Parts: sequence; structure tokens; C-alpha cells
Amino acid sequence: MNNIIAIVGRPNVGKSTLFNRLTESRKAIVDDMSGVTRDRHYGKAEWLNREFIVIDTGGYVANSEDVFETAIREQVVIAIEEASIIIFMVDVTTGITDLEDDIANILRRSKKPVFVVANKVDNSMLVHESAVFHSFGLGEIYNISSMTGSGTGELLDDIIAKF
Ligand code: GDP
Ligand code: MG
Repeated sequence: MNNIIAIVGRPNVGKSTLFNRLTESRKAIVDDMSGVTRDRHYGKAEWLNREFIVIDTGGYVANSEDVFETAIREQVVIAIEEASIIIFMVDVTTGITDLEDDIANILRRSKKPVFVVANKVDNSMLVHESAVFHSFGLGEIYNISSMTGSGTGELLDDIIAKF
């Protein structure tokens, strides 16, 4: 199974909500890891009869801002090694933070396909707000709402085309 998609991004952007949406019909969790890779959840998903594995990252418990940001960067590095495709999720309601500029820098240097996904685009008024994410220099911005599922079909169509 080479089709592995990792969802990275800072806390609260909606990574787990998307993970649950993509994997909810599938009971089998592949193999959750502990240790350095603690809080990585592996699930099976399917779109248009193509099967793939989704990795949810995050849920860090850290006692300082530095440790916390290091843990997120570490997850991005592991994702680049382990996944064939990376979803970089950002939150349209909060825009870009310094941490996200750092993540974008790491992802730009990787050779892996990256999909920039602006989450929480719950209504069409918010579509315009996601234009700021073009500054990452990582290509097209996919507007989705993990909560309603809006936009996830177009995202998955383009992801499976990369398999
Ligand atoms: P994570 O920390 O990146 O895994 O984020 P979560 O999936 O735990 O979501 C963080 C918060 O954002 C929760 O309160 C979710 O209900 C909320 N959330 C997730 N997706 C959406 C969305 O598409 N729209 C809105 N309005 N809220 C969302
Ligand atoms: Mg989460």
C-alpha cells in the first residue's frame, strides 16, 4: 500500500474532523504509533474505489510553546518521510501564523505533492478569505468544510489522480 496521505497543520485547524470524515465508514484502524510518533492515527479510507491510508497527526501535550512548535515540525518531517501525499491544513477563520510559514518552508523543500487545504470554509463568503494562503507558494488552495463535507470531493478527486 503506497497511497498514504498525512494531514499536517497546527492544532485546531480541523485535521481530526477531516480524518474522521474520511475514515468513518471503516472500522479498521491500521496501527497507531507511540513514542516519538505518539498521537499519529492511521485509518483506512476509500474514494471512487481507490483505497488509501490517512494519517492524522497532532494532539500534542507540551509544557512550553517551543516544545510544542518543535513537535509540530517533527510531525511534518515524519509525514514527508512516511506519506506519499501531504495535506497541509490551515484555518480560513484565523489566517496565517508564523508556525504555518515555517511548515510551508519545510514542505516546499520536500519532493512530495502537497495539497494546501483551507478548512472551515463553511459558506461561500469565506472563499475570498482563503486567497491569503497563496503566499505559501504551494499551489492551488482547496476550500473545504470538514464539518459539512463541502469541497472534500474535489480535493479527493485531485488527490487520487496523484496515486
Ligand atoms: P485538529 O486539532 O486540527 O485535529 O482540529 P479538530 O478536528 O479537533 O477541530 C478543531 C475545532 O474546529 C473543533 O471544534 C471542530 O469542531 C472545529 N472544526 C473542524 N472543522 C470545521 C469546519 O469545517 N468548520 C467549522 N466551523 N469548524 C470546524
Ligand atoms: Mg486533532
